[in-house]
Amino acid sequence: MGKLFGTNGVRGVFGELLQIDFIYNLTRAIGTYFNGKEILVGCDTRHTSELIKKIVFAGLSSTGVAFYDSGVAPTPAHQYAVKYYNLDGGIIVTASHNPPEYNGIKLLGKNGDEIPHSEEDKVEEIFFEQRYVKPEKLSKCKGIIDPIEPYINGIITHVDLEKIRKKGFKIVIDPACGTASLCAPKLAKILGVKAYLINSNPDGYFPSREPEPLRENLKEVSKFVAETGSDFGIAFDGDADRAIFIDNKGNIVWGDRSGAILSKHVLKKHGKGTLVVGVSASSLVEKVVKENGGDVIWTKVGSVIITEKINELLSKNIFAFGLEENGGFFYTPHQPTRDGCMSLALMLETLATENKTLHELDKELPNLFMFKTKIEAKNVNREKVIENIANKFNNYRHDRIDGIRVWLNEKEWFLIRPSGTEPIIRIFAESDSEEKAKKLLKFATDITQNEIYNLIHK
Ligand code: MG
Repeated sequence: MGKLFGTNGVRGVFGELLQIDFIYNLTRAIGTYFNGKEILVGCDTRHTSELIKKIVFAGLSSTGVAFYDSGVAPTPAHQYAVKYYNLDGGIIVTASHNPPEYNGIKLLGKNGDEIPHSEEDKVEEIFFEQRYVKPEKLSKCKGIIDPIEPYINGIITHVDLEKIRKKGFKIVIDPACGTASLCAPKLAKILGVKAYLINSNPDGYFPSREPEPLRENLKEVSKFVAETGSDFGIAFDGDADRAIFIDNKGNIVWGDRSGAILSKHVLKKHGKGTLVVGVSASSLVEKVVKENGGDVIWTKVGSVIITEKINELLSKNIFAFGLEENGGFFYTPHQPTRDGCMSLALMLETLATENKTLHELDKELPNLFMFKTKIEAKNVNREKVIENIANKFNNYRHDRIDGIRVWLNEKEWFLIRPSGTEPIIRIFAESDSEEKAKKLLKFATDITQNEIYNLIHK
């Protein structure tokens, strides 16, 4: 991975990393990369997004790349528009779930997928060598395109509309004042769903709750679901590619659990399939998918990597789909990317098909508990830390897909992996009781801290 692009594009605080010159030159590098092609430029609701988009326009103009403005919309809607309007790629100005002072640049390839890290490296090379193309004539914006209508029309072709409409569902939608505000209520209306909206005025300062759907940010929506007697609640992240569900009793159904419920439904719908999932998800995902006749491929954490693997399988005519524990679900008949509104439609179809509540479907899943933490690992070789820990667990079932994951038995495992974006090490532990999972997390944290200490002080 390069120096500018992280797990999901270039991210930073506006005015710090994201200086006007930096954005302009980065966009010149992107324009040089897309030389002679037609791309889309869209953004999220952040207060700095429209300004950054204008700088992006200026950078692209200087390289002669033709571009269209797809306005403010969810990330998956911009992605869908690249394919729908037959463009060669795109740039989205978004910092997803980060706090309001952040923003970022995300690159899309021909099908609207996030481009692989190997392609981002090419853009970085151009940027660091300042190898920008300089055409004789500046290009300009070729027009405004609407990404939202085709996107919603696309989603509804993949679910049984009549079946959903007949149920007369009632749900709570919480877009966090992000881009889901522009899409999820419209989709709910088409699906015949009565939707209570909270935090649904687009506002780039995210005044109501943080744009990351973490447990601590979902108290309001959980309460509201229970109070209104809704079938479920859905809380999006800032750019609406991820969504966390809340069951009819107001309990949060974390992303790997809702993902397992959706996976089961997808497998029933398609007969078979391969789920691609990042290693930080619960092992219950594998259990549920295998019980329902599917296969599982574990990958490194990160949506770009999951999309890349999914595309590899699809190119071999293997039906594949994907999930991330943080609420990302990749339903490939629509597009091979995370997509919050597609997840919403699929969840409605699941409940309509199973004739059960979300709480009941969640209770059918294995009862596993996962806890996670992170520790600072500045000025230490994090790969060496992981290597040393891995050596201690050679005799256990383990894998090195991303860091080190060690299985103590079928239900208990821990994962220690270096973060792709910050100088920290992330630690996960899962077990069949809350107490055992917490104990295991402490154990994994202690050995990591010891290893860091040993490396620094040897
Ligand atoms: Mg996001």
